Amino acid sequence: MIVKKLVVGPFASNCYIIGSDSNKEGVIIDPGADAEEILKNVKELGLDTKFIVLTHGHIDHIGALKEVKEATGAEVAIHTDEAKSLHEHSLSRVFGLSYPSPPPPDRLLKGGDSIDIGDLHLLVLHTPGHSPGGICLLGEGVVFSGDTLFNHGIGRYDLPGGNYSQLINSIYTKLMILADDTIVYPGHGPETTIGTERRVNPFLSG
Ligand SMILES: [Zn+2]
Ligand SMILES: [Zn+2]
Repeated sequence: MIVKKLVVGPFASNCYIIGSDSNKEGVIIDPGADAEEILKNVKELGLDTKFIVLTHGHIDHIGALKEVKEATGAEVAIHTDEAKSLHEHSLSRVFGLSYPSPPPPDRLLKGGDSIDIGDLHLLVLHTPGHSPGGICLLGEGVVFSGDTLFNHGIGRYDLPGGNYSQLINSIYTKLMILADDTIVYPGHGPETTIGTERRVNPFLSG
């Protein structure tokens, strides 16, 4: 499994380029900004991008969606409860940013769905709380956690559609059930593991 992390845009969002070693098909998770940089890396890795998966619809995760979609022709996938956020510009006003209007999604996801490329399967975990249709993507020994779980932190729950108890519930019921050595690739900041967060995350004690 190829995993390349790029830190993009003013909110230092993590964009992940995932690739199958078996057939060089790829997935781009959260093209938040810097389309050129993302596309350059995809090319260097020699990947044929099949999907662009959005962990959620906040601007810092979708800012380069239009350009990356146009350049790759990949299918855009987002949770069904999040799809409308692609057309709302409320958060861009909150953050004082503008960005090109994103394309409509090609595939609406729900929990339990699978994104398949080559020999890789990413299972969709619906993890609302940071946003209503937020998802994490579970691969073999790895989970891409979007803005649900961070290294020593959790996502904001005070944005429109956010909910603290939902967020905590999502983390406990969908993520903390994973093995300790599962690598967590979050939407911002450095990677961590489920075991580390179980022990030291200040939001998950007691
Ligand atoms: Zn967010
Ligand atoms: Zn974010």
